[in-house]
Amino acid sequence: MLNPSSNSADVIIIGGGPAGMSAALVLGRARRSVLVIDEALPRHRVTRESHGFLTRDGVSPSELRKVAREQIAAYPSVRFVQTAAASIEGSDGAFRVTTSEGETHTGRKLLFATGMKDLPMNLKGLEHVYGKSAYVCPYCDGWEMRDRPIAVIAGDHTMHLTRTISGWSNDVAVFTDGTPRPEEEMTEFRRRGIPVYEAPIREISSEAGETVAIILEDGREIPRTAIFFAPKLAPGSDLPVKLGCAVNEFGTMIVDELGRSDLPGVFGAGDGASQKYQVAAAVAAGSMAGVAINTEFLESDWEKRVQAR
Ligand SMILES: Cc1cc2nc3c(=O)[nH]c(=O)nc-3n(C[C@H](O)[C@H](O)[C@H](O)COP(=O)(O)OP(=O)(O)OC[C@H]3O[C@@H](n4cnc5c(N)ncnc54)[C@H](O)[C@@H]3O)c2cc1C
Repeated sequence: MLNPSSNSADVIIIGGGPAGMSAALVLGRARRSVLVIDEALPRHRVTRESHGFLTRDGVSPSELRKVAREQIAAYPSVRFVQTAAASIEGSDGAFRVTTSEGETHTGRKLLFATGMKDLPMNLKGLEHVYGKSAYVCPYCDGWEMRDRPIAVIAGDHTMHLTRTISGWSNDVAVFTDGTPRPEEEMTEFRRRGIPVYEAPIREISSEAGETVAIILEDGREIPRTAIFFAPKLAPGSDLPVKLGCAVNEFGTMIVDELGRSDLPGVFGAGDGASQKYQVAAAVAAGSMAGVAINTEFLESDWEKRVQAR
């Protein structure tokens, strides 16, 4: 069962973020050989601190990753390779994954833990503040930005984001960046006294990652020290779709509560297979998928024992 050096494994996990590593831990402890193929670009890598995951509140994403890898190293049947999985073929019991270097690995089961990725936003200066004073998730970073003058950059889910971040600060202003918003949304903001700046944004002004102001094309500088926005997201990988897995309209893999996809032997966990977008949720989903994968092995081995008698 355990052959840590070969190119074949019981389970190939694609993606070694919180979801993939959580599954690897469960499967390593269950004595399964596991290969984690990871490009090592987790979505929260831009942020200085990760919050809200019990016992790890406030650690950096790199520290979270380092401790996870150290703990998984206690289970020698788990191996990691840092590269991209480029293509997959096969079916339950015999999947073949080829990396971007052309190396081939085989696995009996497959777990996609490939996350989601932000699509680039055309907003000058955002790159200097993203993860330092500009964030996407009030539950992740609202506490640190509490009571600050907050800018919500309009996009998807603007009303929801504005309402949510209003739980952390009474000073919230919306910036539409020159794109007209629906009239009912504007009415709702007016009814609540939330200022809406409709001019295009020229630049986000900042010092050492700290937002100072939103500079508008008309020359106005609106002092703000924190930003929340909802970037457009894309699946971290198109491999689930290429293999034939069902996805929803956001490209999220459709899986059951144990991470089972509609394809036998193929599982999904984490941001790429739910819309929860939290480390704790990704870790929980990876853990459940690990248990479900191991259960499938145990059930087939249990049957084989009867047939072998
Ligand atoms: C700015 C920011 C701050 C955040 N802060 C917090 C926070 O404070 N607390 C919190 O709970 N959540 C936070 N999040 C959300 C958190 O990042 C995600 O919920 C979490 O990373 C999801 O874990 P995952 O394992 O599903 O995906 P990821 O962490 O994104 O990992 C996916 C992995 O798969 C790899 N991958 C993808 N495709 C391939 C491929 N073809 N081959 C090999 N590898 C591949 C990627 O390189 C990556 O390493 C934040 C997100 C952002 C953007």
